[in-house]
Amino acid sequence: MAKSELKIGLLGGTFDPPHLGHLRVAEEVRLAFHLKEVWFIPAGYPPHKGIPFFSFEERFEMLDLATSSNLYFKVLDLEREERPSYTLKTLEKLKGLYPEREFFLIVGFDAFVELETWWHYEKFLDYAEIIVVSRGSGDWKKGKLEVEERAQILWGEKGKEKVHFLEIFPYEISSTLLRDYLKKGRSIRYLVPEEVYFYLRERGYLSV
Ligand code: ATP
Ligand code: MG
Repeated sequence: MAKSELKIGLLGGTFDPPHLGHLRVAEEVRLAFHLKEVWFIPAGYPPHKGIPFFSFEERFEMLDLATSSNLYFKVLDLEREERPSYTLKTLEKLKGLYPEREFFLIVGFDAFVELETWWHYEKFLDYAEIIVVSRGSGDWKKGKLEVEERAQILWGEKGKEKVHFLEIFPYEISSTLLRDYLKKGRSIRYLVPEEVYFYLRERGYLSV
């Protein structure tokens, strides 16, 4: 089997709700790192964030709809029963289920700079390489250097080899912004995939 057949990107998050920024991250990383697929993993209850606005089922269904037209995207429900959900446990599970796969944990720059607060982050590189993507516009030459520096501080030589950086299209969009728009009755159409927009509309979450 060719090597790229084994490479899988993992995009964890709350996806509360999923938006076009998430899809763009997966698309760019998949192509740049020659990954076979990207697996989206919605968190049950993220330990650092409190209870999400949308239920796990809603977030899972929205992600499923958002990704269904892309053959290379899958959604996993590994964290459905996990309260709280820890990335390390998910990585351990995945290595157990798919020992032959090579995993790449994808995180936005904003998430990476908080990595030290994640449960046993120091073990992540035993299970996966890490791909950090830029978030929003900004000076990503500096951002890239910061990633390299922190990776080396956290993991030494291993960090140099196994932590990568990719500058991507600067989508200035977040789930926090979308939840705020929903609260204020502002339109979120064309910030989320059409499938997500219709899902939310059918369920009475949208006033416009
Ligand atoms: P919230 O505002 O609720 O934190 P979010 O938009 O950051 O939501 P998450 O579910 O927290 O979405 O994100 C999951 C992962 O995707 C994180 O690693 C995050 O950094 C990354 N990510 C989300 N949106 C973008 C974006 N627009 N550009 C780059 N990375 C992103
Ligand atoms: Mg976030």
